[in-house]
Amino acid sequence: MELAIAGRWALVCAASKGLGKGCAEALVAEGVNVVINARSSALLEETAEHLRDLNPAVSVHTVAGDIALAETRQAALAACPQIDILITNAGGPPPGDFRDWSREDWLEAVNANMLTPIELIKATVDDMAERGFGRVINITSAAVKAPIDILGLSNGARSGLTGFIAGLARQPQLAGRNVTINNLLPGSFDTDRLKSTQKQVAQSSGQNYLDVRDALRLKVPAQRFGTADEFGAFCAFLCSAQAGYMTGQNILLDGGSYPGTY
Ligand code: NAP
Repeated sequence: MELAIAGRWALVCAASKGLGKGCAEALVAEGVNVVINARSSALLEETAEHLRDLNPAVSVHTVAGDIALAETRQAALAACPQIDILITNAGGPPPGDFRDWSREDWLEAVNANMLTPIELIKATVDDMAERGFGRVINITSAAVKAPIDILGLSNGARSGLTGFIAGLARQPQLAGRNVTINNLLPGSFDTDRLKSTQKQVAQSSGQNYLDVRDALRLKVPAQRFGTADEFGAFCAFLCSAQAGYMTGQNILLDGGSYPGTY
């Protein structure tokens, strides 16, 4: 299917590897020009080269820095001539026990996983509406629908974003101007983030890492973890011209793990 977004510009945050990179790859393959961001510039530049090889017809710019900082957001926004597609993403907060978390830990999680996407959305959606096209995808987590006990910082901060988006996406001045805002909720995707969480579970329970990994894999009805390619392809479809009638949704990509009917 031709997604009809070639030539558009996307800002893809936290995209040197993992799910963000999967989204950037899928968009670049569709002819979308991208600005990609991550903190470490070495891997970011490597990823940018890989994206240029994937489609030499597109422009790929990089902005290194922590997207939770105002100056990085400003630089990332300035690196795009215009933003038609915004993919918000950042590293997830660390796992742990809420008894150990300070107010500062909470503020850090809320800043990275709730306020940062909101600031980026604030800076872009009205211009999208004026041009009559915009797609915002927030990478959140399946934990928004089915909380994971050790990821309380993530459960909390991302739920705040989810509530805010539910209201914003339905504003007629956005939805009525072909600006859609949706959240993609990954279940278990085989990225470095997933591996490090699994290693922590193994360490804290004294089990073997590969045994932990296999047990978690078998809990997924699909009997496997998802891939960043699958995630990216879905994201690219949500950014397509054809996806213009879907907004304000929370879409689970989890191999069937969520046990509810609705
Ligand atoms: P990943 O493989 O660890 O990749 C994270 C990417 O984000 C890297 O490119 C990293 O590069 C960049 N990054 C992290 N913090 C950043 C920041 N503050 N500013 C800019 N770039 C930043 O992780 P992932 O699995 O793709 O996860 C992406 C998001 O989805 C996370 O929020 C994660 O919690 C969430 N999630 C993932 C899963 C899963 O199964 N993988 C499930 C549920 C939710 P640098 O380190 O160089 O900055």
